[in-house]
Amino acid sequence: MAQLIDGKAVSAKVKEQVRLETQALIEKHGITPGLAVVIVGNDPASRVYVNNKKKACEAVGFKSFEYALPEETTQEELLELVETLNADPNVNGILVQLPVPKQIDDKAIINAISPAKDVDAFHPENVGRIMIGDYSFLPCTPAGAMELIDSTGIEVAGKRCVVIGRSNIVGKPMAMLLLHRSGTVTICHSRTQDLASVTREADILVAAVGRANFVTADMVKEGAVVIDVGINRLENGKLCGDVDFAAVEPKACAITPVPGGVGPMTIAMLMRNTLTAAKAQHGITD
Ligand code: NDP
Repeated sequence: MAQLIDGKAVSAKVKEQVRLETQALIEKHGITPGLAVVIVGNDPASRVYVNNKKKACEAVGFKSFEYALPEETTQEELLELVETLNADPNVNGILVQLPVPKQIDDKAIINAISPAKDVDAFHPENVGRIMIGDYSFLPCTPAGAMELIDSTGIEVAGKRCVVIGRSNIVGKPMAMLLLHRSGTVTICHSRTQDLASVTREADILVAAVGRANFVTADMVKEGAVVIDVGINRLENGKLCGDVDFAAVEPKACAITPVPGGVGPMTIAMLMRNTLTAAKAQHGITD
């Protein structure tokens, strides 16, 4: 039986560490980290994410600033808000919940966020820093997935790592993190031929596809570590990952469930990034 990688437990540990460091920052330096979360429109999934982020801020002792803008907000209005938040010393991290409504170019918004406050690590400057391995922030989901791999005690160096998916927010940065840790990394996507023959090579397999039960047992090497980033909602309303958990689990040596795997890690890493941002903005190195 595979080791079940418990994202709730690992994320609770990360958040507790952030809470303790925040307490010390407040006591020693009088600084309370602040995260601004901006949501435009009424997307119910985005609403849930934003509420969860707000709750997490409260739990670790941050100030949270929420800006809920109407669906018809213009790009200029949103850019103006971002500029205000860039200049606000109480705000250390800025997150604009994506997707934004059609009339707004998300790239223009990402580019406008100060790289020092870009706790999602989506700004091209931060993306470039990740590429060269000289970064302050890592994008939250791949960073969380990496924490989960580390929680198994498995050494990445020298392992064959396969990432299915090449998005800018998950697949590509995930591959880069595994490469920085000296994994031998292959990135697969919708044009990959004979996908199963590639994934069967993987000692560490990361699925970030967005298709329910896409990774079947025949695609997985015996004894692999399987990290399922996918969040898919089935017709019956249940959440499920990209990996056919029931079939793959007996073959894997460690595997993340969905829900309760990578999902809870994303917010924990956002909290860590916000703390890092607050310290950096105040020149605090301890
Ligand atoms: P995208 O849709 O941006 O990317 C999906 C990737 O999967 C693409 O690179 C695509 O290839 C690839 N793909 C699609 N079909 C196939 C196929 N048949 N064979 C091989 N590769 C394929 O999704 P994201 O990266 O944004 O998200 C991936 C999943 O992770 C989603 O389920 C999402 O909900 C979840 N997610 C979870 C988060 C969390 O907090 N746990 C956070 C972010 C995302 P191509 O580029 O060729 O089109």
